[in-house]
Amino acid sequence: MLIYYLSMTNSISQTQLIYQYFLDHPNQDIPHAEVVDWATKQWLSLTGKPLADTDRAIRNLAQKGALIKVGKGIYKYDPDHIEHRDLEDFTEAQKKEIKERDGYRCVICGRGPNEGVELHVDHRKPKDLGGKATIDNGETLCAQHNFLKKNYGITETGKRVFLKLNSEARQQDDTTMLAFTNEILALYDKYDMDTQTTK
Ligand SMILES: [Zn+2]
Repeated sequence: MLIYYLSMTNSISQTQLIYQYFLDHPNQDIPHAEVVDWATKQWLSLTGKPLADTDRAIRNLAQKGALIKVGKGIYKYDPDHIEHRDLEDFTEAQKKEIKERDGYRCVICGRGPNEGVELHVDHRKPKDLGGKATIDNGETLCAQHNFLKKNYGITETGKRVFLKLNSEARQQDDTTMLAFTNEILALYDKYDMDTQTTK
């Protein structure tokens, strides 16, 4: 059915074709040769051309998180795994509960709809770092502080760079660089940038 549709539109890519085979066989460990045999025949009948670079197409799908590498040349599509990330988004009911708990105010500046400020529900511990969609891990932020919090992540990355430079300067006895990075790192402490990032 899908193949029929795609052949009509003639817009399918080789990668999409390969992925289709995995989608049609969820939760199965599929050896490389099995997919390639199938996709080669399909591609030939769709386009009249041979299929090229199947290894790279499968590797790309795995890198994007669309497939799981099970072993050497064996991959699988796991619907639960793919949807896992979305499960860690707050539901509308959770968002309402979190905003109610926080009194419909930004937990940093206290502003809310009364001040004409849009509120967001944010993961205290970010999803990327394993933060869950639980009420405890949610906090109400205004649009401005939500944006700033994302930038704190960049600030933290910056600190790691200065810590590395600082340690290198110490090893190489580079007094100028050591003095510079000590001052920068003191500023991180002064503004408590560590605790901001992990909030
Ligand atoms: Zn705020």
